[in-house]
Amino acid sequence: MFIDTHCHLTYDFDHDVADVIRRAHDAGVGTMICATADPDDVSGALKIANENDNIFVTVGIHPDYVNANPNDVLTDEILNNPHVIGVGEIGLDYHDGTQNRDAQIQLFEQQLEIARAHNLPVAIHTRDAEADTANILTDKNHGVMHCFTSNWDLARVMLDRGFYFSASGILTFKNAESVRETFAKIPIDRIVIETDAPYCAPVPYRGKKCEPFMVVETARILAQIKNLQIDELEKILSKNTEKLYPKIKID
Ligand SMILES: [Zn+2]
Repeated sequence: MFIDTHCHLTYDFDHDVADVIRRAHDAGVGTMICATADPDDVSGALKIANENDNIFVTVGIHPDYVNANPNDVLTDEILNNPHVIGVGEIGLDYHDGTQNRDAQIQLFEQQLEIARAHNLPVAIHTRDAEADTANILTDKNHGVMHCFTSNWDLARVMLDRGFYFSASGILTFKNAESVRETFAKIPIDRIVIETDAPYCAPVPYRGKKCEPFMVVETARILAQIKNLQIDELEKILSKNTEKLYPKIKID
């Protein structure tokens, strides 16, 4: 079974999350990791995980919520929950400018420190902020560059620091040749896959609301890039996900 290592089951899926999970299972996606971004997502994500053995959660505050207090969100009780397997998504986003850069960096560093204290991997969001991301993320943390679309320069730095790289539906986009080239160079034992649902639906579902079952399309393209059989790739990705997220339990 495939694993969708990063999706947002608390966005837009309120009424039909059971159907979303069933459709994923039917397509061969057995395990999902629900990421949080907004502190208000956390209770909903934990509820879904507590009701489903094969759903896990990463808890973190996205840079869009720069005024949130990580000590209120990343509590010991939440991080010790067996379904909470990492801290994320956290990081830096300068897409709309750098006016709150200092506050973003502070929030990011606080969460990295909490992750270290709990020995949990981190799921990193970085957008138009490669230089600061490379400066702040050291090998003292371990984790994954989520929905990785940055260039080879950042990939090389983060490879040296032991990070994993997550391929999303963008890998299937016609105009994403440079992303495919980057993933061609990243060693297969450092790659995992995700949908980032409800965003970034892969080909042939572009324009539709993305769901975890669609991660199979990303796997198909990755198998071509790496010249692997799809079932061979499935085993490698499962192993990588278990190494990246040691708390996860895959059936
Ligand atoms: Zn996300």
